Amino acid sequence: MHTSKNSTSLLDYQGIYPCPVCRLGKIKSLSLMEAFGCDCGKNIFTADLEKQLLKMPTMQPPLTWYWNGKCWQRGQLEGREWKWYHWLLVVGFVMLPTALVALSAYIFPATPGSNLSWLPTIWVGLAFLLHLGIVGWLIIEFYQFPFWTYLRVSWRLLLDR
Ligand SMILES: [Zn+2]
Repeated sequence: MHTSKNSTSLLDYQGIYPCPVCRLGKIKSLSLMEAFGCDCGKNIFTADLEKQLLKMPTMQPPLTWYWNGKCWQRGQLEGREWKWYHWLLVVGFVMLPTALVALSAYIFPATPGSNLSWLPTIWVGLAFLLHLGIVGWLIIEFYQFPFWTYLRVSWRLLLDR
């Protein structure tokens, strides 16, 4: 066991810290283990006190956070940084199919007044929403944002109030 460094701003096994994953629970060291657990009950972390790092080993690759004395900073993950050109891919992925569908609806318009004249509009909207949904899901996966844990813990806190 590490000894307390006599300051509450350092990461040590005596302290209680906000959970970097759900951001709502608190993490504290598990008894007899050099590990932290969140009181949301789900997340277990290992710590590197020398580097003031917290690691979530159940994620692959492991997620890390750096304790700066006040809050957690997301550690750098190899190949997992969001680059500016990713936005180009996102916009392209959503806009290109939508534009193609819109273009074909424009070139081959439905007969006005026919039963299916509303179809191209719905089709364009669906293409947009579908691709937006796919991109949103990919972004959640990219950041490994624990969406369901977050929802569950917020809901529980709401009920406890
Ligand atoms: Zn948590």
